Amino acid sequence: MFFVDRMLGKLAKKLRLLGFDTVYSSHMCEEEIMQLCKETGRILITKDRELLRKAVEQGIRCLYVASDDWRQQLVELSKKIDLKSSKRMSRCSLCNVELINANEEEIKKKVPFYVQQTCKDFYLCPACGRVYWAGSHVEHAEETFRRLGL
Ligand SMILES: [Zn+2]
Repeated sequence: MFFVDRMLGKLAKKLRLLGFDTVYSSHMCEEEIMQLCKETGRILITKDRELLRKAVEQGIRCLYVASDDWRQQLVELSKKIDLKSSKRMSRCSLCNVELINANEEEIKKKVPFYVQQTCKDFYLCPACGRVYWAGSHVEHAEETFRRLGL
């Protein structure tokens, strides 16, 4: 869905939490970025006006953000595209990989005991092994999204 340009790392994580397939790279050069967007049809999100100009010339769909703050960046984006997704909190914010149900062993190993007592739904990132559950940082992110009108 998206390719997020460098300097927008926080925005990339939030887009993943919102459920969007988001590739982020801080080290790819402009040519590599544009090549990847062309090959995969990803929408380029950038703060870099020069890159924006070049990408538009090459027919790549782009979204420009002006703000330095990820919250405002999300608001800017939501005015241009629909950020309401039914797949919220279904993706690892670090790896961009879809989460799967965590098994009992993983839960015992990685979730604090008091959380095991109070929550019943746990999700595992098959790439990095991180376990997610409602009530953790995920709830905090949800609250922020709500306040932003997302
Ligand atoms: Zn992960």
